[in-house]
Amino acid sequence: MMSQALAFLKDIFGYPAFRGRQAEVIAHVASGGDCLVLMPTGGGKSLCYQIPALLRDGVAVVVSPLIALMQNQVAALHEVGVRAAYLNSSLSQTETAAVERGMLTGTYDLVYVAPERLLTPRFLDLITRTPISLFAIDEAHCVSQWGHDFRPEYIQLSILHKRFPNVPRIALTATADSVTRKEIVERLGLDGARIFVSSFDRPNIRYQIVDKLNGKAQLIAFIRAEHAGDAGIVYCLSRKKVEETAAWLVAKGIPALAYHAGMSMAERGRNQQKFLHEDGIVMVATIAFGMGIDKPDVRFVAHLDLPKSVEGYYQETGRAGRDGQAASAWLAYGLGDVVQQRRMIEGSEAKAQFKRIASTKLDALLALCEATTCRRTRLLEYFGEAAVTAACGNCDVCLNPPQVWDGTVTAQKALSCTFRTGQRFGAGHLIDVLRGNNTARVRQWAHNKVSTFGIGKELEEKAWRAVYRQLTALGLLTVDGDGHGSLRLTTASRAVLNGNQTVFLRLQPERKKTVAKAAREDKFDTLDSTARILWGRLRAWRTDIAKTHSVPAYVVLHDATLEELVRLRPQTESELRQVPGIGKRKLESYGDNLLEILRV
Ligand code: ADP
Ligand code: ZN
Repeated sequence: MMSQALAFLKDIFGYPAFRGRQAEVIAHVASGGDCLVLMPTGGGKSLCYQIPALLRDGVAVVVSPLIALMQNQVAALHEVGVRAAYLNSSLSQTETAAVERGMLTGTYDLVYVAPERLLTPRFLDLITRTPISLFAIDEAHCVSQWGHDFRPEYIQLSILHKRFPNVPRIALTATADSVTRKEIVERLGLDGARIFVSSFDRPNIRYQIVDKLNGKAQLIAFIRAEHAGDAGIVYCLSRKKVEETAAWLVAKGIPALAYHAGMSMAERGRNQQKFLHEDGIVMVATIAFGMGIDKPDVRFVAHLDLPKSVEGYYQETGRAGRDGQAASAWLAYGLGDVVQQRRMIEGSEAKAQFKRIASTKLDALLALCEATTCRRTRLLEYFGEAAVTAACGNCDVCLNPPQVWDGTVTAQKALSCTFRTGQRFGAGHLIDVLRGNNTARVRQWAHNKVSTFGIGKELEEKAWRAVYRQLTALGLLTVDGDGHGSLRLTTASRAVLNGNQTVFLRLQPERKKTVAKAAREDKFDTLDSTARILWGRLRAWRTDIAKTHSVPAYVVLHDATLEELVRLRPQTESELRQVPGIGKRKLESYGDNLLEILRV
């Protein structure tokens, strides 16, 4: 059976080997077992049920929560010659009837359905009359009432096991935490199921967290230096900032679109469609955008504002590089972000317990931002993966280690200035006092008379900002809930002021070379001019085909495949067949085209 599975992998999907735990999962499901698969985004979950669907008799029913997701999956299956269809509200009655008939007559190996459709008496009746090979429940975390993707219909999917006890079920999710995992098992009645947990590491994502000075200017410098022409997502906190940032990028010559919940459905849909179908679009969005965005060639995710938690950061950055190719997660953060997030927590209507949780989650994220050791290790440790102990070599800390210095005296000055001025001012004013700037405000409060006036001339304003930010992140200062960003001392500050505790601060290194650029250089700078021309031609050809077939470009061929084509420059059909991502069907459809382009 597994040799047949491998043959399908090679011939149909065009890949030489299984990844991670795919082979185990496939063997288990194909022989009729239930399981829950936890794999990070881009880990290759789809093949875990697609190949068993081909191995077993009957049609596989795949429950999927989003129409766009199903359509892309089915389009991609058609591209490789697999018989698949979907049933959802986008189909007319006639189209629906045709798919239903097809199911009865064995026309399909896979049928994707929306959960609400699956639960209708009509569909349940249909599947009692059709041999079913397996049930796959994609995005299984949608059963969790605590997650933001909660779908009430998912809870009722436990019916599948009761009605069809002999049909294997495979539930899949990229949500890492153990609480959600338990909920999935309970609610879907997967008690006896095997659980396959993969590492949640995303080795191809390069993490970078930078001090925010002028966020937008830093963003554009980042895009130009490291991701010119690439598709990416830029997350902002507010609708207003989304619109401003998108307009600004466009003015700077970067094709950007906006997406937030305040826009009309039609407009959002249009922008999303463009982002999916065209090459190199930058989507500026609130976190309303993302779930179900199954675009594998997103090359970067940038945060102009701080996410709310490490979970949020992981999930949002996880949308980069699903195809396994080099990608960046870039975050700019400053004291203002901490102030803003604290204010949002304090000012919310939520219960005290909720605020405490939110605040703890924010602290964990701040610790990641201020990390002086490998970010990836920190991130994985947060999710309970202790296996990664070595530094990763693919985050800003590993590539360009920050200097850590004994900042005790500096911290004492900053804390003392906060205290002497009455714990009612934000960092901007405190820095004026420390640096001895005789501003109107300083005079108004007679702060030119306090003992800390002018004692901090040795550091520039920028450096002081970094100091205040870190003291806040370290819990040595707290942001007042008054809405003005006033800083106050905490119980922990005393030990520092008394000289009983040393404070280590990190100094952002001057950027020797922008980090993610290294990755790009490996790919392109070593390429000769022919390679560049080929790359351009292949992309243009792919755009054409995608338009004609009205599918996203990556459904035709992935970036990874195009890159291999450029690298290997195959000249014959059999050489072409060796390129990962080119299976039998793609060879038939595009072989001649590709060989012609590659004959240079
Ligand atoms: P997930 O659903 O886990 O986010 P997908 O199933 O969409 O991931 O797979 C992510 C990418 O990895 C896809 O482009 C897929 O074609 C590719 N992929 C999956 N399995 C393999 C494999 N064994 N070898 C090479 N590429 C693979
Ligand atoms: Zn690292």
